[in-house]
Amino acid sequence: MPGRAEAGGAETVPVTTGRRAAYLVVLIVLPVLLPALAIPAAWGWGVGPRDLVIAVVMYLVSIFGIAIGYHRLFTHRSFKANRPLRLALMLAGGMAVEGSVTLWAAEHRRHHKYADREGDPHSPWRYGDSGLALLRGMLHAHIGWFYTARRRSSRAHWVPDLLADPDVRRFDAAYPLVVLLSFALPAAVGGLWSMSWAGAWSAFVWGGLVRYAVVHHVTWSVNSIAHTFGERPFRTRDRSSNVRWVAMLTLGEGWHNWHHVEPACARHGVLKGQLDPSARLIRWFERAGWAHDVRWPRSGRLAGRLAARTTDPARGRVADQIADRGAGPPS
Ligand SMILES: [Zn+2]
Ligand SMILES: [Zn+2]
Repeated sequence: MPGRAEAGGAETVPVTTGRRAAYLVVLIVLPVLLPALAIPAAWGWGVGPRDLVIAVVMYLVSIFGIAIGYHRLFTHRSFKANRPLRLALMLAGGMAVEGSVTLWAAEHRRHHKYADREGDPHSPWRYGDSGLALLRGMLHAHIGWFYTARRRSSRAHWVPDLLADPDVRRFDAAYPLVVLLSFALPAAVGGLWSMSWAGAWSAFVWGGLVRYAVVHHVTWSVNSIAHTFGERPFRTRDRSSNVRWVAMLTLGEGWHNWHHVEPACARHGVLKGQLDPSARLIRWFERAGWAHDVRWPRSGRLAGRLAARTTDPARGRVADQIADRGAGPPS
């Protein structure tokens, strides 16, 4: 059972050498190597429409699974979901091959507690804030920390609520099978669609391998890019920021500044024009009766946390945007 060796209340536990080696392969080497190999392949032979459709669908499932499932539901409890939806979101998040939900949530809760300070597992500001030090920090925040960290977040300390959930424990135990499914599913669909082994193979490559690598870089760009560049309309103790292209690729997660003000809020894109597809989908789940107790933003809270730069004309505009549509679910 996960967590048995993690008793004692310490925030972190040592990472074994074997586990670090596995992290190095799955979380660093393959996600860097696979797109590098895929680019000449795409250039030479192209990507057929069948593989493209399979890859895009697998991408959407993985990213929504991480954004809505692993992140907003299981890590931050932004809403409650009925059992079928919880299981589906857990499975979809597992498709991203970013670890079991308890491991993911434990690291992420520690990130929020110590964001950009001593104790944050992945702050880009770790080595300093200029030139090469920042570049090194961004690499660390993006994927480097997976290997360099000698200790990881203790699940017993950070996610006792998840460990107490029998469904989560079963999912953790079955996680290797979920990883297998993440690659077998696109291959099976490609094979059946084309009725050929070649079709299964190319769907495995594009919808399985390349998709998983791309999903990783997209997810981790929230940790590296959206803590370094971009706008910070709200006051936070950290350097979380909003980056539009990251938000679009992550289906809403790149509106990271407000998220650090109120981590349990189900909606991250709260200002005008900040499209948040994950929040919209949660709204649809709520309307369907599958999700309830959704924590939508409150306008007073939004206005109260605006960056206090009174001479900044942008502040007035941001206030207008909140009055316009920031509070509540996406309109
Ligand atoms: Zn963050
Ligand atoms: Zn978060």
